[in-house]
Amino acid sequence: MPDVLVVGGGIGGLAAAVGLARIGGRVRVLEQATALGGVGAGLSLWPNALRALDELGVGDAVRAAGVSAVSRGGLRRPSGRWLRHRHPDDIAVLMVHRADLHRTLLDALPAGRVRTDATVTGVQETADGVTVTYRTRDGVRRTEAELVVAADGVHSAVRRQLWPGKTTPRFDGRSAWRAVTDGVLDPAEEAITMEREQQFGLLPLPDGRVYWFLTADAEQPGVRHDDALAEVRRRVGHWHDPIPRVLAATAPGAVLHHDITTLDPLETYVRGRVVLLGDAAHAQSPDLGQGACQAIEDAVVLASALAAERDIAAALERYERERLPRTQAMALAAQRQAELSHRHFRAMTTAACLLPPALWRRQIMRWVDWTPPALR
Ligand code: FAD
Repeated sequence: MPDVLVVGGGIGGLAAAVGLARIGGRVRVLEQATALGGVGAGLSLWPNALRALDELGVGDAVRAAGVSAVSRGGLRRPSGRWLRHRHPDDIAVLMVHRADLHRTLLDALPAGRVRTDATVTGVQETADGVTVTYRTRDGVRRTEAELVVAADGVHSAVRRQLWPGKTTPRFDGRSAWRAVTDGVLDPAEEAITMEREQQFGLLPLPDGRVYWFLTADAEQPGVRHDDALAEVRRRVGHWHDPIPRVLAATAPGAVLHHDITTLDPLETYVRGRVVLLGDAAHAQSPDLGQGACQAIEDAVVLASALAAERDIAAALERYERERLPRTQAMALAAQRQAELSHRHFRAMTTAACLLPPALWRRQIMRWVDWTPPALR
């Protein structure tokens, strides 16, 4: 097994490290943050990702940290009128706090594999591996690896260096606010409340907390408000119950605000002994709730390819063959979903009322009906 260095200790990077450790690989992770942990809000994990987490050996622990819900089931209008109630045949997702998923992956790694305060600034291929340069509080360091997995997110420094040119993330014209409530709320049926320019989603988390998100059209990226919660309240605080109560139960400091950025499809995820994984390879709009799920799938396929193939080049070729078409089709479908909700809002809401549950289910099954390769 090669000596692997993973750049980035997010969901994709840690999942890759767990997969590589599981097949007996020597793996280290470099993470720029000075501490690991509590960041993020809720994540929906679809059955495809849960199967992949099972292969990583952490499926049961993740399920224990989450709660079953139906994402993309209930749809409402700001007045509260239901366009579609969730249906018993809808596909269940597991709702988890990202921090709990992150901790579960970290716990599955042998101790000492993640180095924090390590910002990778460059990679250089050598005759028999890759030299990685990283910055720490104490100065610049170098380390060698036989294979580098770049899981450093949508703004990947590794991708910027080795895939120069057209791989700058693209602002998709929307901003997203996300948070988890402090307090316990009455159970509310999960739903996405829609108008053409904004969507507010509400999903349960364990312990009665609620994860919410707002996506809204934005003319330009980078606009921030002194009080992000007040801005959300200004936009949707007058929408139907329980939205005002959910916002009232949210601490102002808990709100995350990001612009939605996506990547145009890359021609390859591999450059020599460097391979892209997760958002670094295929950052997509959140409209199918599949970004992290795809990163977890990537992790299992990469580990399986390295276990099955005799040399690194063949394993990376296999990884790319399996992952590039699926992840790019998913990204395209997410983008189409965003366009549909926006440009064809009226048609979309009519379809939501009329589409039989079996067809609704079939549309989603196209993306979540995926089985990972066995790691053991
Ligand atoms: P990241 O989470 O970005 O992790 C990258 C890591 O690399 C970070 O820890 C970062 O600090 C580190 N890093 C960056 N640069 C360096 C460097 N130079 N050196 C060292 N470390 C570095 N996905 C789902 O599956 N379900 C959902 O419900 C869902 N909802 C979403 C809702 C919204 C509004 C948005 C915006 C996204 C959503 N996603 C969802 C997508 C999901 O959040 C991402 O796809 C996923 O987190 C990507 O994981 P990653 O590990 O590839 O990247």
